[in-house]
Amino acid sequence: MYLANPDRYATMPYRRAGRSGLKLPAVSLGLWHNFGTDRDLDTQRALVTHAFDHGVTHFDLADNYGPPPGAAETAFGRVLDGGLRAHRDEMVVSTKAGYLMWPGPYGEWGSRKHLLASLDRSLRRMGLEYVDVFYSHRPDPGTPLEETMGALATAVRQGKALYAGVSNYPPEQTREAARILRDLGTPLLLHQPRYSLLDRAPEEELFDTLDELGVGAIVYSPLAQGLLTDRYLDGIPPGSRAAGASPFLTSADVTPELVARLRALNDVAVKRGQTLAQLALAWVLRSTVTSVIVGASSTAQLDDSLAATRNLTFTEEELALVDAALEP
Ligand code: NDP
Repeated sequence: MYLANPDRYATMPYRRAGRSGLKLPAVSLGLWHNFGTDRDLDTQRALVTHAFDHGVTHFDLADNYGPPPGAAETAFGRVLDGGLRAHRDEMVVSTKAGYLMWPGPYGEWGSRKHLLASLDRSLRRMGLEYVDVFYSHRPDPGTPLEETMGALATAVRQGKALYAGVSNYPPEQTREAARILRDLGTPLLLHQPRYSLLDRAPEEELFDTLDELGVGAIVYSPLAQGLLTDRYLDGIPPGSRAAGASPFLTSADVTPELVARLRALNDVAVKRGQTLAQLALAWVLRSTVTSVIVGASSTAQLDDSLAATRNLTFTEEELALVDAALEP
């Protein structure tokens, strides 16, 4: 039976999500990859408990994480059964709905019908009465925004979620979503965009919009799925995401030009006394971002990421070196 580390809150910084009352760990753990039925439960259990033992109070899931879709939530429920469930009130668990889950017209997207049915399935898989954050996983061009946001507000009113979030929404739609949710008495807590040294799109408009609205930004793939680590500095190792079956990162993505930029970034990291992963996470956390959601396939990787919080400040000169390293 799992016994939690009594010192688990000693080192992790916690940051407020926007203008809400909820604080999240600077580093959160995501269960998108590495939590399918193709991985063993012992490793999954080790990852989740190791994270919790080091102050990671937030676990990010979605209905479709696996493979197969749903498997990550089932695995997470089994991990909770191993003793972690006793700490439910110390944890922020999020899930999302919007991607394909079952056949027919109600199996995906943003209708009230899909979102509320999917949330019920997620709760059953994890064996939870409620999630802390329920997200619309992607905007749905075919459903009125009022309906999608109304479903999130209903989930909160029903006590099946404590807060509402959106993911992958563009700035204008986020503004509108926040207005609708405010009118419904359920403020928008979080927006979950992709953001890393290799994808800076949210800097253009989204982050300013979120700051203005008082909505927290919690970013995904801050390590660009592992590219921003030492994993690919000398080729594509077996067992890595790019070497595996994931359609989201393939060997073709690891180009010689990219590796040259990664090596230049690695030189900046070494000057700061950090690993490349730590530099990449610290750089994201230099801004108003509430939390980075990292993935990990081993506890050693997680330790590497967690150590990023030891140095989150950058001099102007270091920021210029980072920008220069990113140039093609
Ligand atoms: P990351 O960018 O953190 O990539 C994680 C992967 O990088 C790991 O699985 C591992 O891959 C590799 N890695 C991590 N740390 C190290 C290290 N120290 N050294 C070497 N390699 C390392 O994030 P993800 O892309 O996994 O996304 C994180 C989370 O964000 C997801 O789990 C999910 O919760 C969320 N997300 C949300 C989305 C949305 O639409 N809202 C979309 C995508 C993700 P390897 O297998 O090679 O070991």
